This record gives sequence, structure tokens and C-alpha cells, in this order.
Amino acid sequence: MLKIPAYAAMSAKAPMTPHTIDRREPGAHDVLIDILYCGICHSDIHQVRDDWGGSLFPMVPGHEIVGTIAKVGGQVSKWKVGDTVGVGCFVDSCRQCEACRQGEEQFCEEGTSFTYNCYEQDGKTPTYGGYSTRITVDEEYVLRIPPGMPLERVAPLLCAGITTYSPLKHYGIKAGKQVAIVGLGGLGHMGVKIAKAMGATVTVLSHSAHKRENAMTLGADDFVATSDKDAFKQNARRFDFILDTVSAPHDYNAYLELLKRDCTMVLVGIPDPIPLSAASLVQQRRHLAGSLIGGIRETQEMLDFCAKQGVLSDIELIPIQKVNEAYERVLKSDVRYRFVIDMASLK
Ligand code: NAP
Ligand code: ZN
Ligand code: ZN
Repeated sequence: MLKIPAYAAMSAKAPMTPHTIDRREPGAHDVLIDILYCGICHSDIHQVRDDWGGSLFPMVPGHEIVGTIAKVGGQVSKWKVGDTVGVGCFVDSCRQCEACRQGEEQFCEEGTSFTYNCYEQDGKTPTYGGYSTRITVDEEYVLRIPPGMPLERVAPLLCAGITTYSPLKHYGIKAGKQVAIVGLGGLGHMGVKIAKAMGATVTVLSHSAHKRENAMTLGADDFVATSDKDAFKQNARRFDFILDTVSAPHDYNAYLELLKRDCTMVLVGIPDPIPLSAASLVQQRRHLAGSLIGGIRETQEMLDFCAKQGVLSDIELIPIQKVNEAYERVLKSDVRYRFVIDMASLK
């Protein structure tokens, strides 16, 4: 076993504190990665606070991981020592079910091994995420980072990037489509950049009126402050597609009214539920859907797309000792637009 320095929450809502974890020595098909950077996703906070129930402690969060390969197992064919790679939201899956065979490992019917707060495929070894110096991962669950990208700005693509790319791609977003991105946080700002890169006309809907200028700088075509009392009336039936990235409870019914006939709103934010009125869907034959990250193949496609289009995350780089402060700021929507931990601070 390898002894790895990490930061962990020891119980629900506990602050993150230094902790040492065990990781396996790389097996024949594994690689050992020296972690350079790890993004802070709002899902890290939901899980540390046990917002979704069933959280496992101690918990080492982090699923936006970029690093370099330090060691490869004897049978590894895809990677060599020194390669720059990423690890996203899962580290294994059954590889045999229909979802896995179709490259949608995030929906593995036998249970995806998520990067942390979960178990390896043996069903008993806990997984620990990227707030740590090294990680051992099967070579098939590792992503190639295209050359020349600033790595600290790439880390958030491994979750925020793929989570917004996947539904935008799935629903055929392209030039001529009116797209609304709800919530301008980590996911939302990637949604704006990726939807723009796909050619869409993009409007940000935000409960923070002061984000208008930033939204436009990020490339948005328009901005709606949802606190304006006429905002929903004025934008009724305006959009072909809505991507809702909001982390806190809010009224989906109001947002559904902003869709044109036959159009879809996709939820990627995972707040506590609120009542849904059937009329919001029945009227105008609207669709409400959800989306969860993306498979390995699509995540690689997203990284290559972002490299080609020059799409990167806007980040605030912090030492790991500031992680608890960063959580508080994320909860106040006070981040432009992703905190990324510089793992050199943990060595
Ligand atoms: P984030 O950076 O905190 O952004 C969330 C945004 O939601 C905030 O910036 C804010 O935008 C808006 N918001 C926050 N509180 C609000 C409130 N009370 N009312 C209305 N809007 C509010 O979080 P994130 O990392 O982007 O994650 C967003 C959500 O997606 C989380 O629930 C996370 O767990 C989930 N997630 C899902 C997936 C998936 O695969 N489906 C993957 C990753 C994350 P404005 O200030 O612009 O309103
Ligand atoms: Zn995430
Ligand atoms: Zn499977």
C-alpha cells in the first residue's frame, strides 16, 4: 500500500483537515498519477455536507484531476511515465453492461465507481478523490490532456466541462439556437463558453445581477437578472434549450415558461427537489430532462474540442490550506468561476 497525503472531511459537515490515505500500488493495468491540480466542484460540497444522503467518511473529495504519470503497470499500453493526463468523476465501471459497452460508463448498470465517496468494483475498497498528492487508476479511465493547454485551467473541464458539453451535444446545439444557461458558477461559465463555441446564441440567467458584465466578457450574448420582477414575463417562450446548473432549490416551473414549444430544459444542478406543475410541461409540449457528466469517450472528445476551440476554465488558484474558505465562498456564489487547488501546497 502507498501512504498518500490528502485532505479529508472526517464526518458530515466537518471541515477538511490533513489526513493520510492508503492507495494500491499500480497493478498490471493501472497507472500512478502525481496530481498537479484539482478543481473544487459544488458536488464536493454537497457530498461533504451529506446533502444527498449516504455519504462515506472519511471523505477525500475531488474529481477534476490533472497530473502526470509517475508509474505504469506491466500491461499498460496507452500511457508512459511523464504523460499529462486527467481523471474525472469516475475511476471504474463493470465494462460489460449495455451502458458501459456504449461508452456511457457514468450510467453503469452494476454501479459506477465514482472517484470518491464510493467503492471500487470490488464493492468494498473506498475511493478517494483528488484532494491528495497521487492517485492509482486503471488506464482505461484516464484522459489525455492535449498538449499546450495551461493545466490549472484544464482541471475543471474534467467535471464542469463534460457536464455541460454532454447535454449541449446530445440536444444538437449549434448556430441559430437560442440557449439559456441558468446559474453562472463553475458549470454555468463552462456552459456559456462551450455553447458559444458550438455556435449558439447564449443568454445567462442569473440571480446575481452584478454578474452581467462578467457574463458578457465570458462571451454571452445577453444577460437576464432573474431578480427583476418582469424577467420571466419578458422572456417567455424565448429559448430553444435551457441548461439549468443551479445548486440551490428554485422554481423549475418559472424557467420552463421560457422554453419555446417542444423544447427541452436539462437539469444538471442537483439541489433539493421542489414541486413541479404538470401545466409547465403540458403547455407547449415541453420537456424536462437531466444529464450526468459524460462517458470516457465523450470526455476525451470534449477535451479535444476545448483544445481546438481555445476553451478553458476561468479559475482562482489556491493552496489546499484555503479549501474550507473556498467552500464558504462557493456557497455564497463568490467565485470567478472555479477554485482550483495547487497540489504542490500539500507536498
Ligand atoms: P457553483 O459554482 O456553486 O454554481 C452554482 C450557481 O448556481 C451559482 O454560481 C449561482 O449562479 C447559482 N445559485 C446559487 N445559489 C442560488 C440560489 N439560492 N438561487 C438561484 N441560483 C443560485 O456550482 P457548480 O460546481 O457549477 O455546480 C452546480 C450544480 O451542479 C451543483 O448542484 C452540483 O452538485 C451539480 N453538478 C452536477 C453534475 C452532473 O453531472 N449533473 C456535475 C457537476 C456538478 P448565479 O449567481 O449566476 O445565479
Ligand atoms: Zn463535479
Ligand atoms: Zn457497466
